[in-house]
Amino acid sequence: MSFPWSPKNLPKQLFINNEYVDPKSTKKLSLYNPASGDLIADDVALANEHDVDAAVAAAEKAFPAWKKTPPTERRNIMTKFADLIEQNGTAIAELTRLSLGAPYKAFGAFEVGLCAEAFRYNAGWIDKFGGESWPQEDGFLKIVRNEPLGVTAGIVPWNGPVGTIGLKAAPALATGNCFILKPSEKTPFSSTALGSLIKEAGFPPGVFQILTGDGSTGAILASHMKIRKVSFTGSISTGKKIQEMAAKSNLKRVTLELGGKSPAVIFDDCNLENAVTWTANAITANTGQVCFAASRVYVQEGIYEKFIQKYKEAMQNKAKEVGNPEDEGTNIGPLVDEAQFKRVSGFIERGQKGQGKLLVGGQRIGDKGYYIEPTVFTDVDINSEIHTEEIFGPVSVVRSFKTEEEIMKLSNGTNFGLMAGVFTQDINKALRVASDFESGMVGINCVSLMFMNTPFGGSKESGIGRECGIHALRAFTEPKTIMVNLNY
Ligand code: NAD
Repeated sequence: MSFPWSPKNLPKQLFINNEYVDPKSTKKLSLYNPASGDLIADDVALANEHDVDAAVAAAEKAFPAWKKTPPTERRNIMTKFADLIEQNGTAIAELTRLSLGAPYKAFGAFEVGLCAEAFRYNAGWIDKFGGESWPQEDGFLKIVRNEPLGVTAGIVPWNGPVGTIGLKAAPALATGNCFILKPSEKTPFSSTALGSLIKEAGFPPGVFQILTGDGSTGAILASHMKIRKVSFTGSISTGKKIQEMAAKSNLKRVTLELGGKSPAVIFDDCNLENAVTWTANAITANTGQVCFAASRVYVQEGIYEKFIQKYKEAMQNKAKEVGNPEDEGTNIGPLVDEAQFKRVSGFIERGQKGQGKLLVGGQRIGDKGYYIEPTVFTDVDINSEIHTEEIFGPVSVVRSFKTEEEIMKLSNGTNFGLMAGVFTQDINKALRVASDFESGMVGINCVSLMFMNTPFGGSKESGIGRECGIHALRAFTEPKTIMVNLNY
């Protein structure tokens, strides 16, 4: 079957019970192209409570058969879906680019690959995610089964709309749950387009559904009495609301992947080129709209001047990579929309009023679209907002430090705890610092990266729970203990 969706034929409906259907509400979403500011569509479905109820009813109906589907059959559906995502990868990425502005080579291809890989990886787990059994010498055999939760939902952000689907939907479906996806109102098209592939891959009706909408749709899902789990990626403020709604409704399980202000600590004895490359890439990939971007860069005083010079050069070179996301050579596109542009510009403007010294960047690029120069502040006040808040744009802050003790205190002196990096050639120091960081993930001589088979997520206010690896499967299942009396 050929992929029907393109910028000329956008998927704007909901995908419920394996069919594209019109929403019950007359309210619609409007989307704009961040490269030009032009309107893309003003008639994209916004699901209301009736649409959510319809999807939940279809999922409840599908669940008993789906959870009992033989592992090989479920695996084959999931791997076929992964193949279809790859086969249509360019078209899917184009649908993301339209409203996110992310260039294909630097981001779209990576994201589509991540999603396909997540489906393959989790499909591979299906017949390997065994339960447990415990000694029976006390007269009782104990069997522990990993049971799916039922109807689950994923609420995802705009900055990695396709990759995030893989991280949530794949483990949910692999473990026998039904899954309802709520994409961000800023990037709905690549998600809704997957409906055609869901059907073609052979997912039974009601197993994998897509409801476009805004925060109001997300809130209906988070409060729903028949949804047993919400896996959320987005901002800390929304994450807190979701946990509250979950508690106030049916105590549904919640996984939260939230924001960050991740430190990179660069010691005098590091490989300077390596440290510059990783930190410059980290804050400019996807125009800095990455939750685990290294946005606080701390450099030991012995190499501070040298680092600053090279980091500045690297960011100036990055500025040359900013351009129209549709052009082949572009690595860095615009910010996602006007609201994000105003937010990032506001931080930059206020940052120059006594919070730090502007080293490089700080300007809008062109007068059309939402392009901004990669920007660095030095000598930042540690209590200033540019040092303490997540900016979510290509903006980093740099400070020098003297001692390990001092910099660990500053690195950990925040409520964020997603990612951290340490750059040194002293393995003892690297491992000591890595264990002292209060964060879910740490890079040694690297930063802002992830792998499918290792836990992904944050500590403190950066999140609750983990994605990837076996942890994602555990997050979508619950152990059930069966006790067998051997002596009756
Ligand atoms: P957001 O919180 O505004 O929105 C995320 C999703 O939640 C969207 O689908 C939105 O429609 C929905 N939503 C909004 N209000 C809601 C409500 N009251 N109830 C239920 N759902 C609601 O976040 P965003 O602006 O889309 O994404 C940016 C944020 O996401 C940043 O803070 C970033 O750090 C974070 N993020 C974290 C990770 C991670 O894995 N830790 C990954 C990517 C992005």
